[in-house]
Amino acid sequence: MFQAFRRWRRRRIIERAALDPALWQATLAQLPFLAGLSAEDDERLRQTVILFLHTKSIHGAAGLEIEPAMQLLIAAQACILILNLDIDYYAGWVEVIVYPDEFVPKAEYVDEDGVVHTDLAPRAGEAWLQGPVILSWADVAPRADGDGVNVVIHEFAHKLDMLNGDANGFPPLHAGMSRRDWTAAFESAYADFCRRVDADEETAIDPYAAESPAEFFAVMSEAFFEMPATVRADYRVVYDQLARFYQQDPLQRRSAQVQ
Ligand SMILES: [Zn+2]
Repeated sequence: MFQAFRRWRRRRIIERAALDPALWQATLAQLPFLAGLSAEDDERLRQTVILFLHTKSIHGAAGLEIEPAMQLLIAAQACILILNLDIDYYAGWVEVIVYPDEFVPKAEYVDEDGVVHTDLAPRAGEAWLQGPVILSWADVAPRADGDGVNVVIHEFAHKLDMLNGDANGFPPLHAGMSRRDWTAAFESAYADFCRRVDADEETAIDPYAAESPAEFFAVMSEAFFEMPATVRADYRVVYDQLARFYQQDPLQRRSAQVQ
């Protein structure tokens, strides 16, 4: 009964939404990593974006005006993660706050000696447990294809990770997935990646991934969508786990497009 009501309500939201088809196409054209979506995937992404925009409030900070095209660009990137999951993966919070550029969070932390420090490092994005996602517009705007850096995917991957508590690189897995396989894949890849970064090796994947298991999951998610061939070549087991978690195969999508 509840399921049926929810489906009906969603259908009504989608039918009533006025999403300009030209604006939608222009949005997709700016995101080369979304090239190769089948017609069904494209339609499902569009519907997910409508539900996302219906349930989230995207607003500017520090004087930034948010245009419809900006909302769509953020929503399309956020929704590719849940293309084959459900809009409820982003339930329980509402706000997306967008600064014009990198922002300095008022974050304080206490070290082992009890000294309070203020972290003044500028950030491109932040995701709060049960709270907002904060983004820098300068970093949301699309970059050259395939550099593997995508702040929207990064922060929304943290949101998925936080569905079962603090971000730790272990989101809630689907039925049929193995906690042991996930942990084995990510632990060995993380150890190898940290070794490479410590050895000053040039890595195609953003070295920020070495920061913590939570950052490793978020950065690998960015790379999974933006440069799937690299992730699969370097860390096949991680690619396979991410493909099961996100229930999609960006590499196959890309190769289907090339043929
Ligand atoms: Zn992060």
